[in-house]
Amino acid sequence: MGNVAFHTATTVDEALALLGDGSDARVVAGGSDLIVQARHGKSLPGTVIAIHRIAALDHLESADGLTLGALTSHATIAADAAVRATWTALADASALVGSHATRNVGTIGGNVMNASPAMETGGPLIVLGASVTLRSAAGDREVAIEELWTGPGTTSARPGEICVAVSVPTQPANTGSAYVRLEYRRAMEIAIVGASACVTLDDNGIVTDAKIALTALAPTIIRSPGAEVAIVGSDGNDDALAAVAAGASADAKPISDLRANEDYRRAMAGVIAKRAVAVAAQRARGEEFPIPATPVFMKGSGR
Ligand SMILES: Cc1cc2nc3c(=O)[nH]c(=O)nc-3n(C[C@H](O)[C@H](O)[C@H](O)COP(=O)(O)OP(=O)(O)OC[C@H]3O[C@@H](n4cnc5c(N)ncnc54)[C@H](O)[C@@H]3O)c2cc1C
Repeated sequence: MGNVAFHTATTVDEALALLGDGSDARVVAGGSDLIVQARHGKSLPGTVIAIHRIAALDHLESADGLTLGALTSHATIAADAAVRATWTALADASALVGSHATRNVGTIGGNVMNASPAMETGGPLIVLGASVTLRSAAGDREVAIEELWTGPGTTSARPGEICVAVSVPTQPANTGSAYVRLEYRRAMEIAIVGASACVTLDDNGIVTDAKIALTALAPTIIRSPGAEVAIVGSDGNDDALAAVAAGASADAKPISDLRANEDYRRAMAGVIAKRAVAVAAQRARGEEFPIPATPVFMKGSGR
């Protein structure tokens, strides 16, 4: 790893001072991305600042919208009753991250700032309308989650900024959300294809609003306008769901790699988006659906 100076900060101010202009320094939270990448040869900056002891960044509040301190672990998010009830897609996603160990050390701040197009929580945060709070010596600024990612592994955060919180607004009545991914094995998997949906119904069960996002199907997680228009105005019947699938496949911009080729990913984008929308609509109607939703669809994928 070369000559790297490690520091441990116990306050955000201390971390910001150590980070300086950010030109040769990085923060590390759980280390489940940064340290693993470094072990695989990715170089570290001259200074690494551990932030896991900053108690002020480890909190979950759900009284007025959801506010997650950057250090909130996936395990905490997946187990929280309010998240499971109101921001269910996020619980679906956090419950799928890696293994028990990964979910205990991995943080929401690390997940969003790592900016992987295959990250679990990104799609749910998009469809739920989330934003992140970035703090620097100059103060706080709020960035819509869709504006955060600029490419695989890159964000619009400026050098010297730390993510202090992720906020998700209160959802309208009769709203349900879901995250479903295609996985080849039951754990320690990253999404080959993922889809998130958030739908709102009127009193007659007609979809009045829908947000649908696709994971691992473009350089960043993207919305699928084609899938969204296909479901709004319908009651979620099979024809509408088939149109969602066609819209999602058309909007996907997949690559071929050793895990799946482009054609397969495009076809699966439709299947997985359809499933996510169907589960979100079920939840919007107040029907129970297991969390995480994914194992219900994946044979032998029960955890
Ligand atoms: C075995 C294994 C399985 C995994 N499975 C999954 C999976 O299924 N799904 C998935 O999405 N991910 C998975 N991951 C990746 C990882 O666990 C998650 O992305 C996790 O949320 C990262 O959080 P962290 O706190 O460990 O990040 P770190 O490694 O500490 O940081 C990741 C990046 O974010 C930056 N960063 C961290 N916190 C902040 C902050 N507050 N402000 C600014 N920048 C910050 C760091 O500088 C670094 O660039 C897996 C990892 C492992 C090792």
